[in-house]
Amino acid sequence: MNLAILLSKLKVFNNPDPNLEQYPTDSEIANQVLNNVNLIDHIKGKTIADFGAGTGILGIGCTFFNPSIVYLIEKDVNAITDMIENLRFLEKVDHLELLPMDVIDFNKKVNIVIQNPPFGTKQKRIDIQFLDKAFSIANVVYSFHKTITKDYIQEFANRQGFDTTHTWDYQFPLKQTMKQHKKTIQRIQVTVFRFEKRMRG
Ligand code: SAH
Repeated sequence: MNLAILLSKLKVFNNPDPNLEQYPTDSEIANQVLNNVNLIDHIKGKTIADFGAGTGILGIGCTFFNPSIVYLIEKDVNAITDMIENLRFLEKVDHLELLPMDVIDFNKKVNIVIQNPPFGTKQKRIDIQFLDKAFSIANVVYSFHKTITKDYIQEFANRQGFDTTHTWDYQFPLKQTMKQHKKTIQRIQVTVFRFEKRMRG
């Protein structure tokens, strides 16, 4: 099965929790992002962590490119239930490990972190906490943020010793999954960043 089709068949949150900012990545955007990750960082044989994996779309999509292992890290029990449904739908799950835990407690080193974290609208600075954690365990980090926070995010990365090597801008569709959304599809500007640890010398 081709990646775009596989991703489009995955389930989204059954009962999204607005306080945890449970917004799924659109499958076509996930397809583009994962193809970019693979072109630049060659997923084959790599260790990867998907922080705030939700229903698993980013981490599950990585398995298409034969990584050595993908850790799916998610703390919400409802999201985990939805993710398990998606894992059941896959033919092989031997390179995937679901870790039901808070991202902050994850301490393994990996080659790449991929994360579409909460944007910090409900819980202040959670976006920065995710980034900080990602920078402490990987040299390459792909991370989704609201475009209006671009300068702030890049400055934070820079202070942590990470260069921004690429950015990709998207119109992120937020389908009407939560009561407070009035329009059927609202779009927000989201930027996907690739950060790479600066080498000394
Ligand atoms: N990565 C998924 C989900 C994005 S929504 C996708 O791209 O579709 C953000 C996810 O982060 C939610 O599932 C939420 O439950 C999870 N989350 C929020 N805070 C977390 C934390 N501290 N530790 C682990 N997961 C967290």
